[in-house]
Amino acid sequence: MIFYGTKGSHIHSERTSKGVECDNCEEVVPHNISVYGKYVYLYWIPVFPIGKRAFSECTNCKVTNDFSGMNEKLKQHSLDIKKHTKTPVWYWSGLGIFALLIFFVFYYAQQHEKDKVIYIASPEKGDIIEYKPSDFYSTLKIVEVTKDSVYVVQNNYEIERRSKLYKIDKVENYGNVHSSFSKKEYKAMFENRAFLDVDR
Ligand SMILES: [Zn+2]
Repeated sequence: MIFYGTKGSHIHSERTSKGVECDNCEEVVPHNISVYGKYVYLYWIPVFPIGKRAFSECTNCKVTNDFSGMNEKLKQHSLDIKKHTKTPVWYWSGLGIFALLIFFVFYYAQQHEKDKVIYIASPEKGDIIEYKPSDFYSTLKIVEVTKDSVYVVQNNYEIERRSKLYKIDKVENYGNVHSSFSKKEYKAMFENRAFLDVDR
């Protein structure tokens, strides 16, 4: 279940610089203008703002009005005050977090692509290779690298989803079945997609 909705918070209050006639007590006195912001939230996190509302309060009789109940002069004052009241940055928290997440996922993927080129060109003991030996995914672990060969052991387990491979990448899951490739063959395995990825 997704929890979402809208919420408001008080942003700013200011007294009008000049006296304004109150429709209620008919005194010409300053009014307090309070500005409230509204935002959309998702799981208690503000995502983005959806506008501001102003309320007035007569400093003499304390009567309050929303925008529709204000007289023309009060409307003008509250519009001016609303205009220079900045929406708090935290109203954008959700979108900010989302943008950061996207950035890190993108950054990590790019970084990994760069690293992968290095890992394939110069394999090291301990590198984990992702591949698809059947309908399922599994891993191979490099156990030895010589001048021109790469030795690997097979993982005894397979898993349905590639993103879950970390679950079977455990020391005890690797058996004693060794295979070896020349370094040239090893590179070719990635080129023809027999090997999908390598992690170090
Ligand atoms: Zn009044």
